This record gives sequence, structure tokens and C-alpha cells, in this order.
Amino acid sequence: MRELSELFAQNRIWAERLRTESPDLFRELAQRQAPGYLWIGCSDSRVPANHIVGLLPGEMFVHRNVANLVCPQDLNCQTAIEFAVDALKVRHIIVCGHYGCGGVQAVLRGTSLGLLSRWLEPVEGVRRQHAEQLAHLGDETRRLDRLCELNVIEQVAQVCAAACVQGAWDRSQALTVHGWIYALSDGLLRDLGVCVAGATELEAAYRTAVTARPPGGTGPEVTGGVADCAASGADR
Ligand SMILES: [Zn+2]
Repeated sequence: MRELSELFAQNRIWAERLRTESPDLFRELAQRQAPGYLWIGCSDSRVPANHIVGLLPGEMFVHRNVANLVCPQDLNCQTAIEFAVDALKVRHIIVCGHYGCGGVQAVLRGTSLGLLSRWLEPVEGVRRQHAEQLAHLGDETRRLDRLCELNVIEQVAQVCAAACVQGAWDRSQALTVHGWIYALSDGLLRDLGVCVAGATELEAAYRTAVTARPPGGTGPEVTGGVADCAASGADR
């Protein structure tokens, strides 16, 4: 089992299927990548970025970490954003959290997870910042759902604050930042209504998303996501 032969076998089947469906795909991908999206999501094995949105290799640049955090001091995440914005010229950055996130739950319960607890300190900051709103929710499941949502909204704000994102907006580069959440229970995305296409839009979008949305994952699913945002005039 050292060779993990089953994974190589599945890889050959996968590559053959893609070659059948799109004969030129791998040849073209070997030359260049031109993804339209940057996905910032949780490392959770149940939230596979490309699969959820049905995208092929080459269509989405992906950065994942535990609890989908965007920290100014995290060189890994910040360079992924900068490369996606400045070099790849992605038009959309999607921060996608998920309900039932183990990292967020650990913060909510005060569970000590060694090194991971240090990584999750920004989530503790989100919890403290919105403690009053969370305290009004009935049970732990609803508080966890809402903290997962609030964490996404806060990370959207962090993306918007990144120098490269501000720079893109300053030079009128088309770039929209979205906040979504994924439900493990039904495989569907929900739009958290925080959709920012320019520096001046963040404050109102943030305030609306933080205060207006009913907690607990009861919001509408993403029916078109990016298209919905375009329809609202935010995609330009
Ligand atoms: Zn997670």
C-alpha cells in the first residue's frame, strides 16, 4: 500500500475521461492558465472547490486553509491573492466557508487544538466582535452556523483590504469579491450577500451582510452566483 496504487489507477481513469471529453484540454493547460476565479476555501475534505462549482482544471485558482482565513501576515494566502489579481487577472475572488466547520466549532467551544489554536485566533476575534449577536441565538448549532457565516464576511473584508486588491480597483481593473457558504448537508452554496466590486462598496455590503441576514443557513442558495452579482451591477 506504500504506492497508493488505487489513486494512480483513478488518476488514469480521470485523465482519460477528460481527454475524451476535451481532447485539447491538457495540451492547452500545459501552455498557460487563465482562470477567471480565485477560490479561498477551507481545507475540509468535504468541500472540494472545483467539484462544487463544476469547473475544469485551469478554470479556478485555489487557496485553501483551515477555516478559510485571510490574514495580512499570512504570506501564503497573500501571495496567492496577489498572483491571482496581478498576474492572472482573475475577475472574481470567492471566499467560501462551510457550515459545520471544525475549526470554527473549536473556537466556539474553546477547544484546545495545539498549533491549530494559534492559527484560529482570527476566528476567536470574529467571535468576540459579534458576541452579542451570537448570544441571542438559541442553540449551539445556530451559533456555529452564524459564526461560520460571520467568519466568511470578515474574510471578505480582509481580501478587500489587501494592497493588490485596492490597487486593482484604483486602476479600474474588473474585480469582484464574493462571500459564499457551503452546506455539507445538501451540497449547495448560499450567497451571503457580501459582494464587493470597488473600494467604496465594502462598508455598505459588510454592514448589510452582518446585520440583515437571518442566521442559521436559511438564506437563498446561489442560483448563479457571479451572474447574480452581475445583474446587480456589481460585476464590471
Ligand atoms: Zn472548515
